[in-house]
Amino acid sequence: MQRITILGATGSIGVSTLDVIARHPDRFQVFALTAHGRVAELAAQCARFRPQHAVVGSADAALQLTRLLRERGVHTEVSYGEAALCAVSASDHTDTVMAAIVGAAGLAPTLAAARAGKKVLLANKEALVMSGQLFMDTVAAHGATLLPIDSEHNAIFQCLPANYVREPLAAGVAKILLTASGGPFRTRSLDSLEAVTPDEACKHPNWSMGRKISVDSATMMNKGLEVIEAHWLFGAGADQIEVVIHPQSVIHSMVSYTDGSVIAELGNPDMRTPIAHALSFPERIASGVAQLDLTQIGSLQFEQPDLARFPCLRLAFEALRAGGTAPAILNAANEVAVAAFLDLRIGFRDIDRVIEAVMARLPHGEASSIEAVLAQDALAREAALAQIAGIAR
Ligand code: NAD
Ligand code: MG
Repeated sequence: MQRITILGATGSIGVSTLDVIARHPDRFQVFALTAHGRVAELAAQCARFRPQHAVVGSADAALQLTRLLRERGVHTEVSYGEAALCAVSASDHTDTVMAAIVGAAGLAPTLAAARAGKKVLLANKEALVMSGQLFMDTVAAHGATLLPIDSEHNAIFQCLPANYVREPLAAGVAKILLTASGGPFRTRSLDSLEAVTPDEACKHPNWSMGRKISVDSATMMNKGLEVIEAHWLFGAGADQIEVVIHPQSVIHSMVSYTDGSVIAELGNPDMRTPIAHALSFPERIASGVAQLDLTQIGSLQFEQPDLARFPCLRLAFEALRAGGTAPAILNAANEVAVAAFLDLRIGFRDIDRVIEAVMARLPHGEASSIEAVLAQDALAREAALAQIAGIAR
């Protein structure tokens, strides 16, 4: 029986994870569930999956959850805050941690899971973008197992040889081909992008996801973060990672080998496939996702990304090439800018302008410790807020 902690259980990935788990009660048992604010949803999940622990974001939310659980006769223990998140990640009573908190808030508990040598299922790409080297070193030093949940990285993992050790050339890998749908604004006129609304930006053509990653997909910052994620997971340099627009999202990514072979992973765009793959790896289990019917899809298209339309993708490549804390600065500025856009404080195109201004203003340093990374993260957030304050709206 695999005992599982889900960080971010009420989110899009969390809910899909519970959907897969519910199909296999003989294999999986839920140890802990966490959520930030959606207490009623978390209470319903606790009533169904009966975890030993639940963690929320504040003392108020903890009181509320305790009351709801008592009404339902559920004996889940309730706690709150970052230390509690780290405790349920590192507990001796859990084997596997699904890291599905959105943004930098997921870094500490995800690292705690790695430090405790857990099987870490990584959806929270921001954690790896912020602290790539430190994170990978922690995984190695503590014998943790890191399995990618991001559909592209899960696909690449499946297309690489079984004994792959983060050295592309040694494995005959010429390039990693990271596919991208291009999001909802791939073909929209550039002028009209200034005025798009959060709801338009969150209407992804193929995937149903949380609002932050949906906006990231619309700006293609999501692909930029994924380029950095692929760098850390697979040891590929910026020149060995190529982004290919593929609007159907049927090919989830590919690996191109030196002999000319290209191996791709295909499937319907549903996160339960990579989640089930990682939960049961190296076995295969049912995920609830329908089998792919290629004749229904008919044709697959590919094109090059337009960096004028998607400056965030260019900025992410620049941050990866700059190294050090540059990706942490990029990520922090993006989180603040996306939150401001979702709050209607800035326009859609202001997102890339804010990030570019912060990256130009703030010199990056060495990512020598988590403290150094968090200090840069804080400075970048401040700089982004100052930039946003200067944008009249
Ligand atoms: P979401 O917004 O739907 O859910 C986020 C979860 O994190 C919620 O449970 C929320 O309660 C929790 N959370 C938010 N802020 C928190 C905080 N400050 N402290 C503690 N918990 C907090 O997001 P999502 O779409 O499920 O994405 C989660 C992560 O997975 C992101 O890093 C995203 O990039 C990644 N990811 C998502 C998808 C997808 O299809 N949704 C695909 C690939 C990768
Ligand atoms: Mg992805």
